[in-house]
Amino acid sequence: MKKITWEVQYHSLSAVFKHCKKCGKKSQFFCSEKFRVNAQRRALDVWLIYNCSDCNTTWNARVYSHISPQSINPVQLEGFHTNNQALVEEYAMDSDFLYRNGVDEVEIPPYSILGDDFLLSENVELEIKSQYPFPVKVSSLVKQKLHLSHAEYLHLIENKNIKSIPEQDLRKCKLKNNMILVFQSE
Ligand SMILES: [Zn+2]
Repeated sequence: MKKITWEVQYHSLSAVFKHCKKCGKKSQFFCSEKFRVNAQRRALDVWLIYNCSDCNTTWNARVYSHISPQSINPVQLEGFHTNNQALVEEYAMDSDFLYRNGVDEVEIPPYSILGDDFLLSENVELEIKSQYPFPVKVSSLVKQKLHLSHAEYLHLIENKNIKSIPEQDLRKCKLKNNMILVFQSE
């Protein structure tokens, strides 16, 4: 059986939706890619800064609250001070972190699916990987990459030409970090 890997690659940081006090409504907020660090003698606070897309009002997502400065890794602290890109992505692409900060919705960023296409006449073990665990529907990924209509996709499921390991409902299951699908023509 042919083995193929697809990788979901995101093109931007995730935006969030939450209430904006100044706009008086739910607004879209973009990540500024900057941290704010407030260090006092015994307590350290770190936030990741977002801005309302309508009025530019700042909203701070709390990363650390009143922790002891000694309890944080110096390399990480330096990363917060210098707005290290990998560190920004670690938080801005973590929907659990954003929901814990009280956002109403985390937007799934635009993405591409890297990897080889294949024919449905081939027997393929397909691994789908994603660097960030956004809840993208597996059905959307497969339909988009293999250019299938929804009816064609459902037909594959009904005929058991496609299944997941472990078995999940492929009509509605969502990708986490990775997943394996098996395509069998007969
Ligand atoms: Zn606003």
